[in-house]
Amino acid sequence: MRVGGPALSLIVAESTSEVVDAVRAAGTSLLVIGGGSNLLVGDSGFDGTVVKIASSSLVVDGDRVIVDAGVEWDTVVIAALDAGLAGLEALSGIPGSTGGTPIQDVGAYGSTVSETLESVTILDRESGAVEVWDNARCGFGSHRSSAFKYTDRYVVLDVTFRLATSEMSHPVRYAALADRLGVSIGDSVPARDVRKAVLELRGERGMVLEPVDHDTWSVGSFFLNPVLTEVPDAARDAPQFDDPKGTKLSAAWLIEHAGFHRGYGAEFGAGTVSLSTRHVLAITNRGGATTADVMALAGHVRAGVQERYGITLTPECRLVNCSLG
Ligand SMILES: Cc1cc2nc3c(=O)[nH]c(=O)nc-3n(C[C@H](O)[C@H](O)[C@H](O)COP(=O)(O)OP(=O)(O)OC[C@H]3O[C@@H](n4cnc5c(N)ncnc54)[C@H](O)[C@@H]3O)c2cc1C
Repeated sequence: MRVGGPALSLIVAESTSEVVDAVRAAGTSLLVIGGGSNLLVGDSGFDGTVVKIASSSLVVDGDRVIVDAGVEWDTVVIAALDAGLAGLEALSGIPGSTGGTPIQDVGAYGSTVSETLESVTILDRESGAVEVWDNARCGFGSHRSSAFKYTDRYVVLDVTFRLATSEMSHPVRYAALADRLGVSIGDSVPARDVRKAVLELRGERGMVLEPVDHDTWSVGSFFLNPVLTEVPDAARDAPQFDDPKGTKLSAAWLIEHAGFHRGYGAEFGAGTVSLSTRHVLAITNRGGATTADVMALAGHVRAGVQERYGITLTPECRLVNCSLG
């Protein structure tokens, strides 16, 4: 998002053993980052050590892809397609590192990484142990959650995916994607066609990083889709989706229907921030924004949704030394 202050010190760890050594040496004042795409740091910065994971091994072994945490996610999608392996194609174009993907069970267009993730190797900062966790242990299930979210205890060192040996995609599950491909929900098409369609759709919504396009200067979706045990009366018209922990509503729908349109908020920070002009769920830096500007707009939108629907939205991104108050 191109906001936030400096770190006291930065270590770029280029192999798994360097990651383990750097994390063990850093003590408690540590921030682990991958691509930094889902992170907001306060304007005063971070008074500790940042370990940037830059490990780079990617091995295709039969139907398995074993990837270091530092590998850029979209490189994995491309490598899988090149190897004739299907299952990741709908996750094309998501920014960030592979190690970042299990943290919030990254997902898009009806697909999530947990569907093909076989195991992760983690460093447990509490015990100091390096362990391999299978999928069941990772706590996936509910929207954008895992055992690794909202805790600094675990550092993801590498991830193993088990994919389908096929040039054809996993069944298409998302209506807008099926429409774009001209097929029905449940159909399979060449996996490369899914990648192309997803990149087109994401590009149209400003969800593929593009340095000159301020709509992409964001953390992606700023707020999580709320999962509620009871939907308030005021929100009963909102589209509802099943979730293992209750009913999931669309944060974008709530924001839009609470009166916030695309491009809203130009008066915040003297024009330095606004909602994306293509997508109300992304708060964007129009150039020269501070974290305080971003927080002011995010807090205002959250208050508007709270007032209209009685639902408090939660940020999806990691907030470091900044908050919505
Ligand atoms: C334009 C845009 C579009 C996006 N679209 C989507 C989308 O469609 N779907 C989706 O799910 N997300 C999306 N995101 C969010 C983001 O891409 C993902 O959350 C991504 O996985 C973050 O990875 P990262 O390496 O950048 O994480 P960072 O931003 O570096 O870190 C995010 C959090 O994960 C932790 N972390 C990172 N790496 C590790 C590791 N190896 N071990 C332990 N903790 C770690 C950090 O400490 C931090 O708490 C989007 C973001 C942007 C900017």
